[in-house]
Amino acid sequence: MELTKTITLLSGDGIGPEVSAEGVKLLNLVEKEFKYKFEIIKKDFGGIAIDKFGVPFPEDTLNTCKKSNAVLLAAIGGPKYDSLPREKRPESGLLELRASLNTFANLRPAIVFDSLLDSSTIKKEVLAGTDLIVVRELTGGLYFGKPKGIEKRGNEKVGFNTMVYSESEVRRIAKVAFEIARKRKKKVTSADKANVLDVSQLWKDTVIEVSKNYPDVSLEHMYIDNAAMQLIRNPKQFDVILAENLFGDILSDEASMLTGSIGMLPSASIGDGTLPAIYEPVHGSAPDIAGKNIANPIAMILSIGMMFKYSFNNEKIHDSIFHSVEKVLNAGYRTKDIYQEGSKLVGTSEMGNFICKEFSLCKV
Ligand code: NAD
Repeated sequence: MELTKTITLLSGDGIGPEVSAEGVKLLNLVEKEFKYKFEIIKKDFGGIAIDKFGVPFPEDTLNTCKKSNAVLLAAIGGPKYDSLPREKRPESGLLELRASLNTFANLRPAIVFDSLLDSSTIKKEVLAGTDLIVVRELTGGLYFGKPKGIEKRGNEKVGFNTMVYSESEVRRIAKVAFEIARKRKKKVTSADKANVLDVSQLWKDTVIEVSKNYPDVSLEHMYIDNAAMQLIRNPKQFDVILAENLFGDILSDEASMLTGSIGMLPSASIGDGTLPAIYEPVHGSAPDIAGKNIANPIAMILSIGMMFKYSFNNEKIHDSIFHSVEKVLNAGYRTKDIYQEGSKLVGTSEMGNFICKEFSLCKV
């Protein structure tokens, strides 16, 4: 029996359309090789939507996303939009998308491929064997907390945001982290700043409460500044890192540097399952390299892998995609961002072609 899945594709801006094209190639291949039928609906989102409709997240795009089985997003933004009022900028559309689909958990795995050990600026003996996942709270905390704004107080302007979490928000994200840890190395490190912030104390207390339901998973607490340090000092010590929105944003970008390039990092943003999840590379629209066929499409391709794992419950295809990427890297093919002397430099579309070819050969 054929499995029909509707995927809303938001290619966005900059390198978004280029890396999306490689993702679509792979999806077409999955259709051919497995019993899937994909209806891929392309919608405008981000800068391109601002150009066409004056808003980053048109209602039509939202409605299509809500009706689909999964949302695949490439990247949005660019210098052209930086001077717009904040609510009209592409990034506001992104926050709105996450909030509308209630994707409160952002999962960002950082796996260091052996063949890329030399691509990172960190020593390879420190990196080898790193396999961690950052579970970042995505719809609360400092990015959404109120009051926020810039206002005149006395004779100067003051800017302010609020980091706020309720127990229920912390409970649901902690549960995601513990469930994931249960299927991995059974360790959760919760990053906070409980020595200074009240909101972090509530975070910590609530995580401890949730941990009681997971006696098989060990829990440690680490101050966010130490976590940032430990992540480059000894990344292997981590399994699942749990963090609030801003802390998780920073830690996961830092983790990308362990993998060699931000172009390698996929992500999944999931909710309680009633609305579709969002799959997107961690990187932005990279306007500096857009349109040159040099962007790395691997983060996009691995994001599709995560879509099969978390939205379509198909670990087999997830694993096949992962192993195809690994084999292409082992064979020495590299986009510019991960290129090193002696390896074979390829463009965005060639990298996509090699991965697709491997995928046809290495179905696990
Ligand atoms: P960026 O991730 O776009 O780029 C940072 C650096 O990494 C650049 O040097 C870029 O060339 C490189 N890079 C990124 N992706 C790459 C890839 N796939 N292959 C090779 N190199 C890659 O971050 P930025 O420069 O801070 O932001 C650029 C724009 O993207 C801004 O408008 C920003 O707001 C937006 N942005 C969007 C998202 C998103 O869509 N989720 C995330 C971050 C930034």
